[in-house]
Amino acid sequence: MMKFNRGLCPECLLHKDKNGKINCEKWNEKWTKQLKKNTSARFSWHQYQNQPVNEILIDDLRTMSDSHCAFCDKYAPEHDSDSIEHFLPKKLYPSFAFTWENLFLCCGGCQKRPKNWKDYHDKLALVLKPDKADYSFDRYFRFDTRDGEIKVNEWNDSEIDRERASITIIYFQLNGFKRPKVRLDNFKKFYDAKEPNKIKKEFDGTLNELPYRFIYM
Ligand SMILES: [Zn+2]
Repeated sequence: MMKFNRGLCPECLLHKDKNGKINCEKWNEKWTKQLKKNTSARFSWHQYQNQPVNEILIDDLRTMSDSHCAFCDKYAPEHDSDSIEHFLPKKLYPSFAFTWENLFLCCGGCQKRPKNWKDYHDKLALVLKPDKADYSFDRYFRFDTRDGEIKVNEWNDSEIDRERASITIIYFQLNGFKRPKVRLDNFKKFYDAKEPNKIKKEFDGTLNELPYRFIYM
């Protein structure tokens, strides 16, 4: 999870209708009402200037994280499986479903919650967000070059920081699937401590074109 700066809220969410109502507020209210009526209501994105709003937003989100999943940092430019993640789930927090700060570019893996997540549900507020001003990878995590896992930064004295890191690893299953192996393979392939940018000379690109950028820090 690499830090990024969130850009300004896009026009499609801020646009005011004839009655002076802002789109995102109007859509949040509408979705909240729909869910109240029917808890299994189907969520759908609205249109703005004849374009689905999710298509507009995903371009902005992609630019913001340089086409990396906001949570695991998988690199997937134009990847079809990437979609928009509602950080506060849209069914539990319908009044944030169209709120810019709640939306992130996300890979398929990071959208799947672990089976036992219900045991932690009250801890959602502890899950880290990569666009927060005080977030940095080093503060909360370290990359273990022996097994490819993301570990809690044990040198951080703050107990709450360590808990937040630990909850975030569980929430996005950062060491689940085959992720440690994939990261380790990337590390072996591209990392070179002797190079100024820690990327092997053979790689003809920039850090932003590699997955798991925290490997090189
Ligand atoms: Zn991901």
